[in-house]
Amino acid sequence: MSRVEFVEERCKGCLLCVEACPQEIIVQSERFNQQGYKVAEVPKAKMEQCIGCASCAEVCPDFVISVFRTQKAKPAAKGAKKEGGNG
Ligand code: SF4
Ligand code: SF4
Repeated sequence: MSRVEFVEERCKGCLLCVEACPQEIIVQSERFNQQGYKVAEVPKAKMEQCIGCASCAEVCPDFVISVFRTQKAKPAAKGAKKEGGNG
């Protein structure tokens, strides 16, 4: 399971992360931050669906989101590569 954390005070409520999440687990909360934006969040009940793809963190223009991967090593899945494309 993976998880994401939001630094809510930086969020501008643009919801790009909502669009980017393949699991569709990011939503706009009812909370406002001090800048007056409704912040994005992953509800606790949905966090276990996070696959740690980091799409949300990549699209966020304000560096709000950190992704923590806590995958267990699988013997059969060796050599996972990470692509480093320039956006
Ligand atoms: S890491 Fe991927 S699955 Fe998890 S919340 Fe971000 S976009 Fe969604
Ligand atoms: S992309 Fe970043 S700034 Fe925009 S709503 Fe998501 S967390 Fe907030």
